[in-house]
Order: sequence, then structure tokens, then C-alpha cells
Amino acid sequence: MKLLEYEAKTILRDFKIPVPKSLLVTKNSLPHLELPIVLKSQVPVGGRGKAGGIVKLDSQEDIKPATKRLFALPIGGFLPSAILAEQAVHIAHEYYLSVIIDRETASIQLMAHTSGGMEVEDNPDDSYLRLTLTRGDFNSIGEQLAEFYNLPQQTFVLQDLMQNLYRCFVENDATLIEINPLILTKENTMVAGDCKMVVDDAANFRHPEWNFEDKPSNTNFVTLDQNGNVATIANGAGLAMATVDAVTSFGMIPANFLDIGGGASSASVLEAFKKIMQYPSIKTIVINIFAGITRCDEVAKAIIEARQYIENLPPLCIRLAGTNVEEARELLLENNILLLPTLQACLVAAKAEVDRG
Ligand code: GDP
Ligand code: MN
Repeated sequence: MKLLEYEAKTILRDFKIPVPKSLLVTKNSLPHLELPIVLKSQVPVGGRGKAGGIVKLDSQEDIKPATKRLFALPIGGFLPSAILAEQAVHIAHEYYLSVIIDRETASIQLMAHTSGGMEVEDNPDDSYLRLTLTRGDFNSIGEQLAEFYNLPQQTFVLQDLMQNLYRCFVENDATLIEINPLILTKENTMVAGDCKMVVDDAANFRHPEWNFEDKPSNTNFVTLDQNGNVATIANGAGLAMATVDAVTSFGMIPANFLDIGGGASSASVLEAFKKIMQYPSIKTIVINIFAGITRCDEVAKAIIEARQYIENLPPLCIRLAGTNVEEARELLLENNILLLPTLQACLVAAKAEVDRG
């Protein structure tokens, strides 16, 4: 499950990781915070700053209209259910810090960069500091991080921060915690300006306290690689696995496994599209359905709706076969969406999208 920023920051606060003072704004409430404040749209996608979802305000009168605007502004196809109002911080510098699970080495890894904020995509891959985190090694980790950030005077602070962040990661069964920006304030404190947190759906059973807006998926949706470039939608566990394997053997990185199951409705397929839109690096979606109980025309309806309602939907490579495929073909054609004859053809088309970048 991917947490909203305010949910993630509540957890950070519980683990003594400094976050700005904040209040949650709903449609009928206004925040009483010292000005200036920053209003932040709570949508489950990044890039809110660039999309106009982060607004800094200096006067009380501006809060109401700005809130109204943010509630009506879709970002990546999502409207916010809430807005986080934060006391603005005086930014001296923005750093990048994240903790992730590295599947290859089966370890917890820290990634850091001296330049964080909205332009992190421009940081070359090899300019990040990467360290393996192990329990009990936080003095050395904090020291290395302080040195990398060139903030020797923050060594103690970063040692504490890393110890708390590691505990936070493990105890919450997180698979990703990304603090970007990690802000050095003009008052020489470090605060988490933004936080993206993903927790493992499979650990839901041991977290009765989890009551996030995102729910554990009941469709058989499994994240394989947060940074994968191809999303997959298939039906039946066997076909879904085969689809993921085929994507891999074509030299692409599948972001997810998804078995939409028999009898999938267009609503549940649309949910799947929304989940897929949360991945940052998807270039295309491969849809591979062999319909028995599932009906191809239901899937087609969901595809058409997804194209209508989801902004920036990546190109689709679709192969449908089985029940009601002719109805599906017609529906899709009316909307200028072509079916491909085989999975092979889908993979060739997908590879072209990935290579295009
Ligand atoms: P994102 O674009 O979805 O990643 O949203 P962020 O929460 O990271 O905010 C984007 C940018 O807003 C940050 O990188 C900051 O440069 C900027 N910003 C300006 N003032 C503030 C502030 O007081 N607090 C925070 N959190 N961000 C601020
Ligand atoms: Mn951010």
C-alpha cells in the first residue's frame, strides 16, 4: 500500500523524525496555523509541485480560495481527499534520502543525494550514495551520511535520524520510505519536507492499526519493481506469471504482477489502472486476457474508461482472446484502440515504447 504524505508523516512523527507542524484540511475546515503556510494536495502520486499541487500562502484570506482550487485540481488522474497544511519552513538546502529493500542483495539500502527536491530526476544514477543498513551500525552510517552531505555539524542529528528511520522502516514493514526533500532549515535543523512511504500488503495481518486510505489489494496485485517500466494486466495466475516472465525475457522490467481473476468487472479493472498509475517509470501497459468467465467486453469498457478518466495513461499493448472478444474489438475500435493478435506482438510494441524512453 502506498501511503498519502500525511499518513506517512504521522508515522515519521511517531518515530521521532522531525516533520513540519501541520493540520489536515478537509472540505469544511480551515487550518489555524501561523503564516506563511504551505498547502499540499494529498494525492497518491509524486510531482505535485510541478503540477501546481503545492501552494505557499502568506495571507489568511488566500487560504479558502486556494483550498478550493486544490480540491478541484486533478493530479495524475487523482483528486485529493484532503489537503495538508504545513507551517512553511525556511529552506537553506534540500537533500534526498530514501530507504528501500534491495531484492537482489536481500538487504535494506540507504540512498542519498546532496541535491533533493523537485529535480531529482536530473541526478545521474551514479551520483547517489548507497549504503547497506544493518541494525546497530547507525553511528557510522550517520557519520558517512553527514560527510556525504557535507554537513559535519549535523552528524549527531543524522545518526539519530538514521536510527529512527531504520526502526520506522522495519517496524512498519515498509518497502520504501523516501524523504524528498530532506530540508536543512535556515535555523540549522533537519526536517522531512515530503515523505513517500510504501508498506507491504502482505504484512497487513500484523498491523491492526493500519487504516490507510489505500487498502490492501484484493485483486491479486503484487509489486515486483517500484521502478519497473512495464505494467501488466492479465487474468489467471498462470497467464499473469507467463506475462511477467515474457516481459522480462524481452529485456523490460515488469513493475507488477496482476491477476484480475475470473469475472472481473470493469470497475475492478479500472482500479487496477489507478494502482498502476502510482508507479513512476511506467512506459506502457501490457494487457493479456484469455477470457473464459471474464468477458472481453467488460475489460474493453474499463480500458475505454481508463483512457477517458486517467490523465497521462501510457500507451496500451492489448491482446484479448475468448468470451465476447468480437464485441470488445468493436468497442475498442470505436475509440480508436487497436487489439494486437498475439502476446508476441504486444511485447514488440511494448519494447518500442520502452526504447523510446
Ligand atoms: P512533490 O512535488 O509531490 O514531491 O512535493 P514536495 O512536498 O516535495 O514539495 C515540492 C517542493 O515544494 C519542495 O521540493 C520544496 O522546494 C517546495 N517547498 C517550498 N516551501 C516549502 C515548505 O515550507 N515546506 C515544504 N515541504 N516544501 C516547500
Ligand atoms: Mn517530494
